[in-house]
Amino acid sequence: MPIYEYICPNCGLIFDHFWPSIQAAEGAAPPPCPTCGASQTQRIMSRVAVLGGLGGLTPSEQAAADAQAERLAKITPKEQIEKLRAGRKSSSVQG
Ligand SMILES: [Zn+2]
Repeated sequence: MPIYEYICPNCGLIFDHFWPSIQAAEGAAPPPCPTCGASQTQRIMSRVAVLGGLGGLTPSEQAAADAQAERLAKITPKEQIEKLRAGRKSSSVQG
């Protein structure tokens, strides 16, 4: 089950969205922002986790990472969002 991270260009929220499959994630429109409801959310390619797949983080590490991401999302300034966008553009992701 892939988890994709999205950023809301309207309010700056970064949030995770669970998809039943990678195919579903690729084929569907991005999920709307859970905070402001904007539908123009953008997927952040740099952080994709697959549950039960690569076995990267332990549950406690994952919880810590999630907590940090949540903290960051709350204080994310516009510059940071721009940086994320720039990084997303410059890094070429091969499927
Ligand atoms: Zn939003």
